Amino acid sequence: MKYELTVGLETHIELSTKSKMFCSCSTAFAGAPNTQCCPVCLGLPGSLPVMNRYAVELAVMAGLALNCKVANTSYMDRKNYSYPDLPKAYQISQYDVPLCIGGYLELQSGKKIRITRIHIEEDAGKLVHKEKETLIDYNRCGVPLIEIVTEPDFCTVDEVREYVETLQHLMRYIGVSDCRMQEGSMRCDVNVSVRLKGTDALGTRTEIKNMNSVANMVRAIEYEYTRQCELLEKEQSVTQDTLRYVEETGKTSPMRSKEDARDYRFFREPDLLSVSVSDEEIKAIKDKIPELPKDKIKRYIQTFGLTEADANHLIKYRRISEYFDEVARLSKSPKTGAKFIIGQMFSLFSTEAQKEAFAVRVTPESLATLVNLLADGKINSNLAKTTLEQMLITGKSADELLSAEDMAALSEADLDSLCKRAVESNTGAVADYKGGKEKAIMALVGFVMRESRGKANPESAKEKLKEIIK
Ligand code: ADP
Ligand code: MG
Ligand code: ZN
Repeated sequence: MKYELTVGLETHIELSTKSKMFCSCSTAFAGAPNTQCCPVCLGLPGSLPVMNRYAVELAVMAGLALNCKVANTSYMDRKNYSYPDLPKAYQISQYDVPLCIGGYLELQSGKKIRITRIHIEEDAGKLVHKEKETLIDYNRCGVPLIEIVTEPDFCTVDEVREYVETLQHLMRYIGVSDCRMQEGSMRCDVNVSVRLKGTDALGTRTEIKNMNSVANMVRAIEYEYTRQCELLEKEQSVTQDTLRYVEETGKTSPMRSKEDARDYRFFREPDLLSVSVSDEEIKAIKDKIPELPKDKIKRYIQTFGLTEADANHLIKYRRISEYFDEVARLSKSPKTGAKFIIGQMFSLFSTEAQKEAFAVRVTPESLATLVNLLADGKINSNLAKTTLEQMLITGKSADELLSAEDMAALSEADLDSLCKRAVESNTGAVADYKGGKEKAIMALVGFVMRESRGKANPESAKEKLKEIIK
C-alpha cells in the first residue's frame, strides 16, 4: 500500500442519568414521542436550565477511567446552529475549557490511543423520516452526553474496532452509560484521511457523521480510504467534507461542506455557572469506580489461574463477573466456579440483554457450596454437573437436592452390583461388544452412570464391566 490511513474518532455517549441535563424530564428510551419534554429542554422563553450534578459525576468518572486530567473549573458554552431537531437553536456544550483533557485508552498491543478531551453537552431531538413527511420527537432534547475526542492515532480499522468495543465495555462496566449503538446511546463521528507512506503531514480529512454500528464504521472507513487514495492517484485533492454513510450502497455521500468553529458563534452560556469539581470530589468519584476490566482480567489469571479466554469471558458482563467474584470469595476453588459458570450458566442466555441481566436461580452462595462439595471430594464432577442442572431448573440448593447417600462415595460393592445389572439388562450391547464392537461398552457405562446418578467413575465402571463380560 502506497498510502497510509489515519483515523480520529469523536464518540458521543449518553450518560445513564434518570433525568435530563438541565431539567427533570425523564431520559427513558422509546417513550411515546414528545411526552418527555418541558419548557427548559424545549428552550421556551423565560425558562432556566439547572445543571444535573449526577451527569457531571458520571462524566468525571468516564474521564478518570480514561486516564484524563479533570479540570476543577470548566465552562458551558452555547453552540449556535439552526436545525429542526434543535428547538432552542443552540446546543449547550463545552468549547474552550472542557471538563477533561489529555487521557488515553490502551489497546491490547500496548498502543495508547490518546484522548484529546472529554466534554459534556446536551443531545438534540430525533427526526423520524417517513415516506412523505418528517416527524420530530423532542424527547431526546437535553439528554446528557459526553463527547470523547481522540487524537488522529488510529492506523487500521482493527484498531478502531478494538477502541470502540473496549470503550463501550468500559463505560458500561463502570455504569456511565449503556452504550447501545443500535439505540443511539453511543454514536461515532469518524474522521478519515490518507497520506503518502513516509510523509509527516496528515492528509485532508473527511468526517463521517453519526455512525451507529462498528460494522458500518469499518465499511465506511474502508470505502473512504479507497476513495481518497483514488483521488490522490488522479492528482486530485480531497475536500474537507462532512459525509454520511449510506448503508444500502456501502458508500459515503456529502452532507454539507465542513463548518468552522466560527460558524457556531460559540459564547459562554449566560444562564449557567461554571462547572466546579473540587479535588475532594474527584477523589470521592475515583473511589466509586469499580475495579476496571483490564485489572480484573489480570487478577483472574494471576490469582485464580484462569485461562485468558475464560477471564475475558467472565469479564464481558459486569453482573456475571460480580457473580463470579462472590463465588470465588466463598469457595475453595474459584477455577471450578468459573468452569461451572462458563460451561453451564452462559448457555442459558442468548440475547445481550439476558446476558447483561444474568438472572439465574442459583445464588453465588449456593454455587460456592456445590464447588466446595466437589473440592472436598464429597461428590464427583459428574454428580456436580447433574446437580447444577437441577439447581438451575428448580432453584433448590445442592444440600436440598443431594441425599446423604449421594454424598457418600459409591462403594466398590455398589459399583459391582450396578455393573452386573448393566450386563444383565443390556444383552444386545453385551453381544455387540463380544462380537468385536469396542464402542458397545459405552452403552453399559451409560447405564451405570445413569443408575448411580453420575456418582460412578466412568473409567472404573468401564474396567469393571470388561472384567464381568470376559
Ligand atoms: P471538529 O471535527 O469539531 O472540527 P477537530 O478539528 O478537533 O474537531 O477534529 C476532530 C477529530 O478529527 C479528532 O478526533 C481528530 O483526531 C480528527 N482529525 C483531525 N485531523 C485529522 C486528519 N488529518 N485525519 C484524520 N483525523 C483527523
Ligand atoms: Mg467533528
Ligand atoms: Zn425538560
